Amino acid sequence: MNIGRLTSTSDPVTASREFLAGLIEKSVVKEVLVPAVQPGGSVALALFADSEELRASALPWAPVMGFQGARALSRIAFTDPGVRVAAVLRPCEARAAVELVKLGQIKPENILFITVDCPGTCELKGFAESKLDPVKTAAKLIGQMASGAIVPPAELHFRSSCNICENPSAKFGDIRLNLFGCDGALEIEAEDKVAAELEKAGLAVFGSEPSPEREKVIAELRALREKARDELFKTFESEAGSLEGFKKAFSTCIRCLNCMENCPICYCKVCIFKSSLFEHEGSRYAGWAARKGVQKMPSETMLFHMTRLSHMASSCIGCGLCDTACPMGLPVSTLFRKTAASVQSMLGYEAGKSLDEPVPVSTFREDELRTESGAKDH
Ligand code: SF4
Ligand code: SF4
Ligand code: SF4
Repeated sequence: MNIGRLTSTSDPVTASREFLAGLIEKSVVKEVLVPAVQPGGSVALALFADSEELRASALPWAPVMGFQGARALSRIAFTDPGVRVAAVLRPCEARAAVELVKLGQIKPENILFITVDCPGTCELKGFAESKLDPVKTAAKLIGQMASGAIVPPAELHFRSSCNICENPSAKFGDIRLNLFGCDGALEIEAEDKVAAELEKAGLAVFGSEPSPEREKVIAELRALREKARDELFKTFESEAGSLEGFKKAFSTCIRCLNCMENCPICYCKVCIFKSSLFEHEGSRYAGWAARKGVQKMPSETMLFHMTRLSHMASSCIGCGLCDTACPMGLPVSTLFRKTAASVQSMLGYEAGKSLDEPVPVSTFREDELRTESGAKDH
């Protein structure tokens, strides 16, 4: 990896806007996917072809995340987008993108992956009600990233998944924009070929030393979040670890499927839960009630969660967008993250870590069969 500085030396938000607009203007890419300030002050993902529009509103460190960048990228690059597109992704979005590439949901050939360090994000609703300015809020959080002592904006909280996010900096990306442990100016990292392309376009200069504090700051933040994660998992286990506890914790689920719709890893185009299989005749409900004495409505909420868990626990990357989408405020991401941690550790797999590591559920390993069945070689 080559370390360098952007040629624009403004504050990180302005410098990133100049850099991303420059990618379009210097024909490095045709379009850029990046969070951007919307009319009215909210933030949403946007795909820019116009560099001036991008320069006016892009915000890679937006303090909210309502829609997963990897899910958006899968829509853009499920087939070849036809033009080279830069995608600016947070670490959890980059990990989801890695899984989706391996699962055949993103064609990576025409994508320039740009990953950014992430301080954490607030829930959309609370942030909208706070009326805070997203650019000023992002600037404040960026200022805290030099030391890693990050606090959410006053009267707001980071999302539960961000409080326990052990990967605030991405290991993946053609280009990485670093802020943790840096001196307030953006540090850029790029692979040889991309670094040469950026220098030729006059967008960055390479040859710097990595910021000496960076690894220490990231390690300290990671340790804090691992502690918070272990505490959250312990509480969840004591409250929802049994079947009865689980049923109680999810008793208000209305099976609206929002958690599934907003999950980057739940990608099936045809889903059994949207099929007629779950549109029962009235007599079926009546029969269930007669047999059990009572039938909760809507039915099959537990089956929904169990099925989803079995389909994707090996690839859940802990972004928490399922929580964001849940109208009932249920701890969906804690359930998925906790289960994913056990499943991934059992399979010796870390979702989103590397493109070279095959997804376990779609990989046949003969020795696994032998271990499970006790069969011996002949
Ligand atoms: S889960 Fe991690 S990477 Fe994703 S928004 Fe939260 S802190 Fe950032
Ligand atoms: S289950 Fe939730 S935390 Fe896991 S990848 Fe899907 S949206 Fe993210
Ligand atoms: S979003 Fe919430 S209420 Fe809707 S199906 Fe998922 S857990 Fe249930």
